[in-house]
Amino acid sequence: MLYMDYAATTPVRPEVQEEMTHYFAAQFENPHSPHEAGLRVKAAVEEARERVGRVIGVSPRQVVFTSGGTEANNLAILGGARARRKRGNHLVTTSIEHKSVLGPMSALAKEGFGVDFFPLDSTGLLDREKWQECLTPQTVLVSVGHANNEIGTLQPVAELAPVLRQKGILFHCDCIQSFGKVWVDAAEIGADLISVSGHKLYGPKGVGFLYVGPGVRLEPLMYGGGQERGLRPGTLNVPAIMGLAKAVELAGQEYKRELLRLLALRTELINRALLIPGVYLNGHPTQRLPHHVNLGVSGIEGQVIVSEMGKRGIAISTGAACSSGSREPSHVLMALGQAAGEAAQGFRITVGVDTTVQDILSFAANLSRVVDDLSERFCFHK
Ligand SMILES: *Cc1c(COP(=O)(O)O)cnc(C)c1O
Repeated sequence: MLYMDYAATTPVRPEVQEEMTHYFAAQFENPHSPHEAGLRVKAAVEEARERVGRVIGVSPRQVVFTSGGTEANNLAILGGARARRKRGNHLVTTSIEHKSVLGPMSALAKEGFGVDFFPLDSTGLLDREKWQECLTPQTVLVSVGHANNEIGTLQPVAELAPVLRQKGILFHCDCIQSFGKVWVDAAEIGADLISVSGHKLYGPKGVGFLYVGPGVRLEPLMYGGGQERGLRPGTLNVPAIMGLAKAVELAGQEYKRELLRLLALRTELINRALLIPGVYLNGHPTQRLPHHVNLGVSGIEGQVIVSEMGKRGIAISTGAACSSGSREPSHVLMALGQAAGEAAQGFRITVGVDTTVQDILSFAANLSRVVDDLSERFCFHK
């Protein structure tokens, strides 16, 4: 099988797996136990926190381990908004965010918060002239993802940060798709709260972290033993945390070199795909993740392309993994102004560490044949 769905998840790297294995059995003790063995595990976890902090350029105190990206987003948004309820009741986000951002926003709307959406253009890019008009004196939190998981568009988040800081508005940035692809340094993002997930960066599933900037107060979502400064109680998932730290370190060492390689592969893929009759690109042509392509073929449902490519041994997807299968047209493409029929045509190809130029050529040749066959069957483009 040719795997081209790295935005959905990535394989755990051997170095990461090795690091984790040790903490399943050899050092299995509870990091919160008072005995020697427990203290040694605690020291390993605190070292992992330091390693993560070093890569992203923040103090280890500001790294809160979570059960993944979804929890990091929920803690940032629910926790940030609820802690500021007395100051204001207005939140702003975009309509193309991941469901783990839009879900908490809807929950807060039921708690009495007003939620507005920044205007976007047809490539998913934030309107740089008009976004500030959405802010009111009641605005307490803004959440804008750095890179969209479905269409790959990169937002100019570094431009938002100083404006929001000056207005005293908490800024959360879902950086789950972009970490280790185009950034590793928190200062480049400039947000108060940054979410990262392990399994999108060659680490394990079910673990992630939230960067919580200095002086940022959050209301916890759960109550218990007070771990993670009371923000995320519960016995720490030590093997996953150790694996995450290793994956973060490897990303920090390699991402600049890998970025150029992925960019070349992606550009080749887009250029070849656009030669096929009826194929068009979704999202921004250049302001996008280096490993990310979202295409459509006029007149053919994305689901059909995904299934036909699957029969040929190539794994790609329609929008987000969590909403694929629902057969609802993508909420992201609809938010960009596409009609339901057009939005249903979108499909995503994302490349990664094991992808070669040969794979790109094979993908393009197979897509061309699939489109040809389907067009003949449905009398399109002929
Ligand atoms: C995958 C993803 C999430 C959810 O992360 P999990 O670790 O799978 O819970 C959130 N936001 C974006 C942009 C993602 O791509």
